[in-house]
Amino acid sequence: MNRRFDLLVIGGGSGGVAVSNRAASYGAKCALIESGRIGGTCVNVGCVPKKVMWNGANLMHAIDEAPDYGISIASHSFDWSTLRRQRDQHVLDLNGIYERTVAKNGVELVRGTARFVGPKTIKAGADTFTAEHIVIAVGGRPVVPEVPGAGFGITSDGFFELAAQPMKVAVAGGGYTAVELAGLLRALGSEVTMLLRRAHFLNDFDAMLREELMTQMQADGVRVIAQTKIAKVEKASTGLRITQENGEVAEGFDALLWAIGRQPNTDRMDLRATGVAVDAGGAIPTDAYQATSVAGIYAIGDVIGKLDLTPVAIAAGRRLADRLFGGMKDRKLDYRNIATVLFTHPPIGSVGLTEHEAVQAHGADKVKIYETRFTPMYHAFTRRKVKSAMKLVVAGETEKIVGCHVIGPGADELMQGFAVAVHMGATKRDFDDTVAIHPTVAEELVTMRNSRPAVA
Ligand SMILES: Cc1cc2nc3c(=O)[nH]c(=O)nc-3n(C[C@H](O)[C@H](O)[C@H](O)COP(=O)(O)OP(=O)(O)OC[C@H]3O[C@@H](n4cnc5c(N)ncnc54)[C@H](O)[C@@H]3O)c2cc1C
Repeated sequence: MNRRFDLLVIGGGSGGVAVSNRAASYGAKCALIESGRIGGTCVNVGCVPKKVMWNGANLMHAIDEAPDYGISIASHSFDWSTLRRQRDQHVLDLNGIYERTVAKNGVELVRGTARFVGPKTIKAGADTFTAEHIVIAVGGRPVVPEVPGAGFGITSDGFFELAAQPMKVAVAGGGYTAVELAGLLRALGSEVTMLLRRAHFLNDFDAMLREELMTQMQADGVRVIAQTKIAKVEKASTGLRITQENGEVAEGFDALLWAIGRQPNTDRMDLRATGVAVDAGGAIPTDAYQATSVAGIYAIGDVIGKLDLTPVAIAAGRRLADRLFGGMKDRKLDYRNIATVLFTHPPIGSVGLTEHEAVQAHGADKVKIYETRFTPMYHAFTRRKVKSAMKLVVAGETEKIVGCHVIGPGADELMQGFAVAVHMGATKRDFDDTVAIHPTVAEELVTMRNSRPAVA
């Protein structure tokens, strides 16, 4: 059957659900095509199940620290299968909520894998679909390298399927997924070895953040093997055996987690039938209005290869619907100053330019740095010490805050408010004029006095 809609959305993840719900609210006739579980990466194999595990990991730290506060815990143990069951049930509940919301909004959910069979025609299941506007929101999937034995490893998708806790884990990769999963596994009691290609992890983040996190993760017992490349993986009787390119061997692992990046899901939808351009990595470049190289076809979310974050996909989708169906003709997402949090141990919150980026953008003589490192009160007398570190990157005569970076307990929750300030163009003077909330970690951000020149 040939079916016609005002809007066809391919991919029922964060971006796809957002754009179709918003378009339907304006009365557009929408279909949302999804090949897997509604909610996409974030709900099923990303933010949500990861955050549940992070919460569990934080509890383990709290239990370890309880005796320092005079609370005795006679014994405790951790049962992976209970946490997994609770987590998976929560995800199933969310799948149901998403489905019901989409249906209530009048969006037709089509189950199937969409592929283009003409410039603006899509086939999914037995039907073909066409629409004046088509949004590609197919996200991406984890990459597995082409080294012998790579298949013995798992990716973040496989991590969320693990029936039992792997007690000795190798994590290959240095992005945020690698540090987050390594950190929570360690807190839950696994032995963790990270294998990094470069000298450091989190290379796109401010140097202060990655250095502090590295120090804390190592203090917590994570073993880091830097500047290495995995040459082959074998299954031995003692567990997985990883041979590095320099010939060194690390072995005895129950699991190897590949967290080396993601690739866009554009290779499985016959994009050639549309003429939509993709870049060398398979991502779909768009203009500021999410438009692809073909009129009437748009792309949002991870598939555009810009900022792989759920709220970014949602914001781009909603703005696109506002523009196409809500009469807001200039509506588009401003990709600058989007805050991000890493659910590491301790967490990281960051918005705006790193020190290095600010120097590139404004020149070293125009940039100043305010920074502080301290032990938060919570850890003043705990045996496990966790430091906080904060940095404000300011530019120009007015000392406009162009970057704000925090690592330490509470960084995850405090960053949202500071992101508003940075988004509004706050200056150091605005921060100084804001009366502190005491005693908190966050107050340090409005009480910093000494600056230093930026380092290129
Ligand atoms: C481990 C992990 C942790 C993360 N943690 C966070 C976090 O804490 N905070 C945060 O903001 N972001 C986080 N992210 C990133 C976040 O999940 C993504 O940025 C977000 O899901 C992107 O949304 P999207 O709509 O672009 O794609 P997705 O959510 O990936 O959705 C794409 C959908 O398209 C479907 N699809 C693909 N091809 C087709 C096809 N041909 N036909 C029909 N359907 C198709 C897929 O099945 C999928 O459901 C995390 C990601 C991972 C992997």
